[in-house]
Amino acid sequence: MSPDQIYFIRTELDRCANMREQKQRIKQLKKFKTCHYVPVYRGNHIYPDSDDAFFISDIPLGAEKMQSFLGILNDELWFSCGLTEKEAIALETQLDCQFESIRQYAMALADDLAHIALYSRGLDLWQRKNKFCSICGTLNELESSGHKMVCENGHEHFPHIEPAVIVLVSKGDQCLLGRKHSWPPNVYSTLAGFVEAGESIEDAVHREVYEESNVRIKDVTYFGSQPWPFPSSLMLAFNAEAVSDDIRLDDEMEDVRWFKKQDLIKWAKAGSIILSPRFTVANNLISNFLGKRI
Ligand SMILES: [Zn+2]
Repeated sequence: MSPDQIYFIRTELDRCANMREQKQRIKQLKKFKTCHYVPVYRGNHIYPDSDDAFFISDIPLGAEKMQSFLGILNDELWFSCGLTEKEAIALETQLDCQFESIRQYAMALADDLAHIALYSRGLDLWQRKNKFCSICGTLNELESSGHKMVCENGHEHFPHIEPAVIVLVSKGDQCLLGRKHSWPPNVYSTLAGFVEAGESIEDAVHREVYEESNVRIKDVTYFGSQPWPFPSSLMLAFNAEAVSDDIRLDDEMEDVRWFKKQDLIKWAKAGSIILSPRFTVANNLISNFLGKRI
């Protein structure tokens, strides 16, 4: 199981970041290139006909100022269109279908579409949460084709990403998985947590594992990353080896345990334990440890 199998990140889409400030160029390209407009409401999309494609319009939807340039894929331009509640309801009525989260459709989407759905979701959630400047409180306007916000007093804001570490800790043929109080019954996953202000990623890996399990680790190696706009994380995945195995829980965790490979495979198959879904990097880490996709 290699990091390049991480879901949501495989795409041929060129973000064309250097074109975002070139309004006239984008306007010209729109005249003779095929354009796709992805309506987004509260980070969600509409899946009208089948679960392997969300609704994509060939004409712009909503206000032009809420259009964000996502990039170019196969010589075609892609935009996301952030809709107001009124516009979203109108589109739902027209298509007789509701806006829904990508979670339940993720695995059915082709790589490029899965990436575009997640990309437009992250951008849309950030735009909705930042209607006003966090410095002076005046109204923000979208600039740079949807990738920057600027208020009346010229304060600039960029998409806010929260880095989080996620770690598969192993000791011989055992790995350390845990569950939080809020999770559905029998769900277990790798330990994870947010990187704190002023903290290095490496220190966050050691701290989070120790806080949640009391286990000390060594040989931390980077595995890969996955954008996770639920609402604004970036998951940074690592493998690590345990140097202690005595578990003690903090308040956040309901349970943390060592699982033997064979048990994990057997119990996951039987459904007595539920591991993170296949589209998560946690699943990549566990599958990588087991040597088979689970
Ligand atoms: Zn301001």
